Amino acid sequence: MPTIADRIADNLTRVRAQISQACQRAGRDSNDVTLVCVTKYARPEWIDGLLECGEFVLGESRPQQLEQRASRFSDQVQWHLIGQLQRNKVRRTLAVTSMIHSVDSMKLLERIDTIAADDGHRPSVLLQVNISGEDTKGGFTSDVLRDAWPRIHSLASVHVRGLMTMAPLTDDPRNSRDTFDRLRHLSLELGAGPTGQGGACLTELSMGMSNDFEIAIEAGATIIRLGRTLFEGLDA
Ligand SMILES: *Cc1c(COP(=O)(O)O)cnc(C)c1O
Repeated sequence: MPTIADRIADNLTRVRAQISQACQRAGRDSNDVTLVCVTKYARPEWIDGLLECGEFVLGESRPQQLEQRASRFSDQVQWHLIGQLQRNKVRRTLAVTSMIHSVDSMKLLERIDTIAADDGHRPSVLLQVNISGEDTKGGFTSDVLRDAWPRIHSLASVHVRGLMTMAPLTDDPRNSRDTFDRLRHLSLELGAGPTGQGGACLTELSMGMSNDFEIAIEAGATIIRLGRTLFEGLDA
């Protein structure tokens, strides 16, 4: 009987090979792609398995669960928040996260900036973009983000490191390519604007999940967020 850690180690070996092959196809260095292991549905033993395998960058979608887990697991873990953050949870969340991927409005971004200034933090955040414009998805639309850009640039404490998106659900991951290409183009467009005065420097593209991460890497993802594929063969 393989143990939980064995299964996770096998899954990680497979995923790392897939990452490196996708990088090769795209002429990229696999060191330029950060794997965030999404633990939102993972049992605590599975997280232990990830840590045993040397994976210390973990993502949670709920601030409350992230906070609980941050207090239970090694403080070597870098916790990434990938789901919605209410403004009244910003302070507590900043205290335990190394990156927030899911900043989806100006109000939230400004709140983070204010609290960061208060607490003397320089938090790393990504702006979530609703590239496809689907009603069901949160995030800035491309146009709202373009309009807000000068203001974003003027925020002094928050460190805007890049953009994040999710592709629409699809049976064929190749359909996600267009969304990912559009996020990269938007990032290049905004990043080419005035720099220097504010905290925005768009070097990260967080895109790609279990079903479409190889396509995302080919399209330039620097951060991929994988859950299910890491835990294949384990029962919840
Ligand atoms: C759950 C989640 C993921 C991981 O999805 P999998 O399909 O399990 O790989 C990635 N990003 C976000 C924002 C999520 O909510």
